[in-house]
Amino acid sequence: MSADFQTQEERLCSKCSKIKSLFEFSKSKRRQCKSCYNAHSKARREANLEQYKKKQRERYQNNKVEIRQKFREVYYPKYGDKQREWQRTYIKENRDRIALRNSNYRRNNRERCREYCRRYDARKVNATIGKVSYEEVVKKANGICYLCGWIVLPEEMSIDHVIPLSRGGAHSQDNLEMTHKNCNSSKGSKLVSEL
Ligand SMILES: [Zn+2]
Ligand SMILES: [Zn+2]
Repeated sequence: MSADFQTQEERLCSKCSKIKSLFEFSKSKRRQCKSCYNAHSKARREANLEQYKKKQRERYQNNKVEIRQKFREVYYPKYGDKQREWQRTYIKENRDRIALRNSNYRRNNRERCREYCRRYDARKVNATIGKVSYEEVVKKANGICYLCGWIVLPEEMSIDHVIPLSRGGAHSQDNLEMTHKNCNSSKGSKLVSEL
């Protein structure tokens, strides 16, 4: 049989040498059937797993916007159900592993997790949310509580929304100041002028 064998409906796979329906080939001009090609690329991926992951990460970082958009508009409507199902199974089968990973992540990224919670709280009251760098807030404070004017030790430190979220203040850099935990909680949802 000639390797060039091809009809309208069938094609010869150059790898497994089986004649298969065109549905079993990808739309590109590839001469291997889908299952041969997938097995081949899977093997190649697994042989260079670290490199592959790195490349994948780089590609994602460089094309974040397009990839996310494509996912939203194309993949999600098409594969969303399948993916959710896969995710549920994965969660069910890897509970312990996920719990461990989460607690490690929380331990290593305390400030990030705290910020996540703060943003969550801010969203709940429909506050405007901006970019926040706590490092900058602390640097600006110069070690002094903006409410009482005394030095703040690290273990007493807290960050306050000058105009409380509940009164229309934004969760953003310019609405944040460093305080003592005590000063912060006694201010509560008041404005500075109401103290
Ligand atoms: Zn094949
Ligand atoms: Zn204070």
